[in-house]
Amino acid sequence: MDDAVDLDDGRGLDDGVGPAEAAIATRAQALRAALAAGMPVDWPAEYRLLLERHGRLAARLDKVLAIADRYQASSRDLIERLEAVNGQFRQLRELGLPVCRYCGRIHLDDHYQSRVGEFLKHHADLGLARGVCAGCLEERYGGRVRAPLPTPAGPRPVGAPVSDSALNRVHATLSDPAHAGSPLAAPLADLAERYEKLLRRLNKLVLISDRFQEQLQDSNLRLEHLASTDVLTGLTSRQAMKTWLEVEVRRARIEHRPLALLSLDVDHFKHVNDTYGHETGDAVLATVAAAIQRDRRRGDGAGRWGGEEFVVLLPDCPYEGALPIAEKLRASIAEQWVIVGERAISVTVSIGVAGFTPDDTVDDLLRRADQAMYAAKHGGRNRVMGTGCDQN
Ligand code: GH3
Ligand code: MG
Ligand code: MG
Repeated sequence: MDDAVDLDDGRGLDDGVGPAEAAIATRAQALRAALAAGMPVDWPAEYRLLLERHGRLAARLDKVLAIADRYQASSRDLIERLEAVNGQFRQLRELGLPVCRYCGRIHLDDHYQSRVGEFLKHHADLGLARGVCAGCLEERYGGRVRAPLPTPAGPRPVGAPVSDSALNRVHATLSDPAHAGSPLAAPLADLAERYEKLLRRLNKLVLISDRFQEQLQDSNLRLEHLASTDVLTGLTSRQAMKTWLEVEVRRARIEHRPLALLSLDVDHFKHVNDTYGHETGDAVLATVAAAIQRDRRRGDGAGRWGGEEFVVLLPDCPYEGALPIAEKLRASIAEQWVIVGERAISVTVSIGVAGFTPDDTVDDLLRRADQAMYAAKHGGRNRVMGTGCDQN
């Protein structure tokens, strides 16, 4: 708030009687003395003087009132902000961890987490959120479950009426009868017409540029979607899967959560291609991918790593829990038939399972899952093998 007081007489507000009042007081004293002494008084001059002083006082009063209003508004604003912060603080205190004063143990009642969640949802500005939840990750990277892309906006009206204050003023001047016959009226009307044309062109350009921007945004969205989805199988692409892996590995490390990774490779796939042709090979790959999609839990990541290799990411799943999931997936793929003409083809997969350990990088986890998958190949294929178990 600007509290520098700029009164006409250059004085502050609270330094007592200003010169205007002092001058009036002195004048009144002199008048009383003159009247008492029976001296003549120039009343019109006195009246003028009083009027002028009164005007200055009224102006000062206005300024004082304006400043007081500003102070009031700013203190109201401060009080409101203080109350808001106070309210947040009170809510925050209610969320204090239920720590026992005697044993020091934390006793989380059933609703504690939901209360914390509810509070943080409405106070995201507190900056206490960390990580990305499985649902949001799935939406971001899970190719199939992505929300439909927004369709580009329809055409916008071009050539909408131009409204411009300067132009309106010129039109008002031109239509004012007081200026009728002025030699400047014709050139002014000419200029106004050109100005209006330019404005219309500018308006059109802005609309066109808006439309280009919308199309660009839409293309970006579609490109992003394409980049994160494998075209043949509809699974998450290798690049997007890497990002997903990085996020989940970081989350597992920071939040001490379990995490497991499956590496799948189709057995003797070259033989499928060689026997039935590449197109049938593609159909087989799509069928394997569909089985992976069908069996995965919400929040699990499924990606095509390349060729006939796939990865499945199992957040919040310990190594021991991942083994039966992998086994179920192996069995479900082995039972799957791909019908090609009059033939029914079936393939098997070898699956390697790795559990996350706190020191693991993404590459460590991938390497161990791959090692396990190769062990499954050497062990006879169509089987699940694991290396490493998490220590969570
Ligand atoms: P293994 O059991 O040891 O994994 O044997 P494999 O034949 O599956 O492995 P190999 O690496 O020898 O062959 C993989 C084949 O997968 C070779 C390649 O032509 C084929 N392939 C890779 N990508 C595609 C694809 O997108 N479509 C088709 N149809 N074939 C593919
Ligand atoms: Mg392979
Ligand atoms: Mg293979």
